[in-house]
Amino acid sequence: MSAYEIEEHVYDVVVVGAGGAGLRATLGMAEQGLRTACVTKVFPTRSHTVAAQGGIAASLSNMGPDSWQWHMYDTVKGSDWLGDSDAMEYLAREAPKAVYELEHYGVPFSRTEDGKIYQRPFGGHTTEYGEGPPVQRTCAAADRTGHAMLHTLYGQSLKQKAEFYIEYFAIDLIMSEDGVCQGVLAWKLDDGTLHAFNAKMVVLATGGYGRAYFSATSAHTCTGDGNGMIARAGLPLQDMEFVQFHPTGIYGAGCLITEGARGEGGYLTNSEGERFMERYAPTYRDLASRDVVSRCMTMEIREGRGVGPNKDHIHLHLNHLPPETLKLRLPGISESARVFAGVDLNKEPIPVLPTVHYNMGGIPTNYWGEVLNADAQNPDRVAPGLMAVGEAACASVHGANRLGSNSLIDLVVFGRAAAIRAGQVVDAAAANPTLNRASIDKALERFDTLRNANGAVPTAELRLDMQKTMQADAAVFRTDKTLAEGVEKMTAVAGRMGDLNVTDRSLIWNSDLMETLELDNLMPNALTTIVSAEARKESRGAHAQEDYPDRDDANWRKHTLAWVDGTKVTLDYRPVHTDPLTPLDQGGIDPKKIAPKARVY
Ligand SMILES: Cc1cc2nc3c(=O)[nH]c(=O)nc-3n(C[C@H](O)[C@H](O)[C@H](O)COP(=O)(O)OP(=O)(O)OC[C@H]3O[C@@H](n4cnc5c(N)ncnc54)[C@H](O)[C@@H]3O)c2cc1C
Repeated sequence: MSAYEIEEHVYDVVVVGAGGAGLRATLGMAEQGLRTACVTKVFPTRSHTVAAQGGIAASLSNMGPDSWQWHMYDTVKGSDWLGDSDAMEYLAREAPKAVYELEHYGVPFSRTEDGKIYQRPFGGHTTEYGEGPPVQRTCAAADRTGHAMLHTLYGQSLKQKAEFYIEYFAIDLIMSEDGVCQGVLAWKLDDGTLHAFNAKMVVLATGGYGRAYFSATSAHTCTGDGNGMIARAGLPLQDMEFVQFHPTGIYGAGCLITEGARGEGGYLTNSEGERFMERYAPTYRDLASRDVVSRCMTMEIREGRGVGPNKDHIHLHLNHLPPETLKLRLPGISESARVFAGVDLNKEPIPVLPTVHYNMGGIPTNYWGEVLNADAQNPDRVAPGLMAVGEAACASVHGANRLGSNSLIDLVVFGRAAAIRAGQVVDAAAANPTLNRASIDKALERFDTLRNANGAVPTAELRLDMQKTMQADAAVFRTDKTLAEGVEKMTAVAGRMGDLNVTDRSLIWNSDLMETLELDNLMPNALTTIVSAEARKESRGAHAQEDYPDRDDANWRKHTLAWVDGTKVTLDYRPVHTDPLTPLDQGGIDPKKIAPKARVY
């Protein structure tokens, strides 16, 4: 592969991704005095985090009583007891600190009358260990929280002299012969040059893979690139069967109407005008957890009570709320409703449908963000030189189902944790090792093969086949039959990667090649999702299996691990961490409070 010239850059740390997780990690690493580069395929403030509307969860108690223990309990219950207790404790405990840091960095949070950070209710967030009323825990900058966070974190990273490589597409990890990550290979999109980033620590913060599905709230750039790189490096992905459907994507367009809309008093109705959530979740109704609301909506539609000419969606009402509230608290979604649904939300309900929104699964890590090269025998073995944070990672704090506003807090808590850990394990004085040429050549060979792909199937066509298959067979309702068929279809779809046709051979702004690299990353995500789902014979969180309607803790309270080789997926399992970080007598949560029980809202 000597046809490609490569420029080498040497750093202590290279972060791939400049969303909330990547920027918080970049900023933290630079603050630790580590020479830090951030490589990103889109301009930092265009990362998908920019679209986050509703807010960021932390038990600040600004609007009423709250505690980190209640937040942790809600997260455990939301995860349907699949999350790791040590990581969930770390998240809930560190959350207030991480939000105050954001405030001090300059995030323009909405304010209460007395000047405190404004907090709104969100689904699944409660008081008194699920026995009390909903809590106002979600800190918000109107309905543009992610936007505010990204701009602030980008500015702060620049201030700390982190170096940005913008519109560089990371192709693959560079691995030593004995499995140490040494850096990443990247393609500079605007001039076609290739770059090797040599680093003592690589942090993958590449976001989710919503675009493996046909209808998703996520940006077209959410193609699971980091997960693809991990799979190609022979490392496992974890809990990929758990894909969150957000109850309120705008019907047709898929754009998100934040859960904050129901937090501010919005509610759902069926074709009979009934507020059906009262029947399914008598206590928390429209603010039950997302998987529950999405499933109830799907059930109403399947039983013939959907709205519209095809009875295939549901109505979300905000028209009863005072126009001032909508204007003040939800200005962005007023615009989305007008543009994407043609609806004036002061007057009419919004047509909505459950839409793919978040990937609970991803790259397994411990609560320091260190990637795990795990298997059943070595469930907590660390992969040297490699970290993952944000939606790409699986720490696992969201388990089988993420609570709304728990992702933004995950980004900053674990972005920060990774930086603290790197400060301990990366030796800034040491020399960087020589990059493994064989690993670079292997990455170049794949790149070159795709660039010159001369088969019969255009990338866009195969991508659509994948998206339709995932939407049909790995969505809200799953059965043995649909999943088995789905595995067969997805295996066939992935098998056609060798027959791709790329028409543009150039290296400068070649979007055809970039989309092909993205498709090559989406495939292992889609395959592991459907194969892991087919294997899991129970219902838990977002994985609702009609043939096994109950959760089965005796056999299935364990994390799925999935390795990909071509179209073949191999599975194994590792235990869930059930012990919290801090013992009860040292101020920890009472383990009895977080013991598994039925999950009702
Ligand atoms: C519409 C919407 C609204 C949401 N609202 C909320 C909310 O209110 N509260 C909440 O808690 N969560 C919310 N979520 C979820 C949350 O926003 C996401 O999970 C989170 O923003 C993901 O952040 P991230 O940093 O992991 O990845 P992203 O923000 O997706 O960033 C990924 C980064 O990786 C880079 N990248 C990817 N691949 C490559 C590559 N090959 N080479 C180089 N760079 C690469 C990209 O350039 C980008 O910078 C929302 C999600 C959506 C889609």
